[in-house]
Amino acid sequence: MDYCKHETILYVSSIVEPVISWCDEVFPLYDENKSRTRPIVTWALIVVNGLVFYWEFMQGFNLSIFLTFGEVPALVLQGKQLHSLVTSMFLHGDFWHILGNMVFLFVFGDNVEDRFGHIKFILLYFVFGIGGGLIHSIVAVMFGGSDAFIPAVGASAAISGILGAYLVFFPRAKIVSVVPSFVFVRVAPVPAWVFIGFWFILQLLYSGGATSVAYMAHIGGFLIGLIVAKTVRLKPPARTKVGRSSIQSPPRFMTPHCEYCGKLVPYNALFCPNCGSRRVR
Ligand SMILES: [Zn+2]
Repeated sequence: MDYCKHETILYVSSIVEPVISWCDEVFPLYDENKSRTRPIVTWALIVVNGLVFYWEFMQGFNLSIFLTFGEVPALVLQGKQLHSLVTSMFLHGDFWHILGNMVFLFVFGDNVEDRFGHIKFILLYFVFGIGGGLIHSIVAVMFGGSDAFIPAVGASAAISGILGAYLVFFPRAKIVSVVPSFVFVRVAPVPAWVFIGFWFILQLLYSGGATSVAYMAHIGGFLIGLIVAKTVRLKPPARTKVGRSSIQSPPRFMTPHCEYCGKLVPYNALFCPNCGSRRVR
């Protein structure tokens, strides 16, 4: 019986592993979704993360930096080094770690900042980061064994929250990505729900394995972002003044224009065919 089980696991992993490696190589370049406002907070976050990384580099990635400012789950849950819940969000382990995070922040941050507004966006950035970090700490202490003593760093939890919010706001937006196909890689637009859906499944698959990356922080941050974006009140679109007698009058709760990109949208469309945003009613 055990033998059968083992066979099944081998069979499943032979399917899962190519999927994982394929998903891992899909990389976003930009989204075809112009934000209406200047994403000053997103830019500022990228600059601050870059400056902190430069400081880490000048210190030679000293281990004491990570032990002092990184999030050590066992300490945080004892109420010690609580500052690390915030400071760990601005530390990165190596160049590829910060590059990956900043590209995601650059691609997805601007539109989410636009939707929330600058102030709400920066507050929620910390909510996602601290929330994801706490979830990671709880899971690491309960199930992680030695992970409870390894400092976790990175903006990933906060950026995962942004991905969750992006999925709610712009499910049909096109994310122009590098997609590996057979021997070649090509650049192709991928719908946001497909891109983020695969990303999330990847985090779930990874979280089952033993690695030093805090995938539970990604999953936690993502779910918080999803819930917040679903529940937060957005500015409703301007009401149209169309007489009730007109046969072609739209339902009163809908404008004929997308409230995000301003293009004309079919009256009962749930998503804008141009920018991919979910319509606000
Ligand atoms: Zn639109």
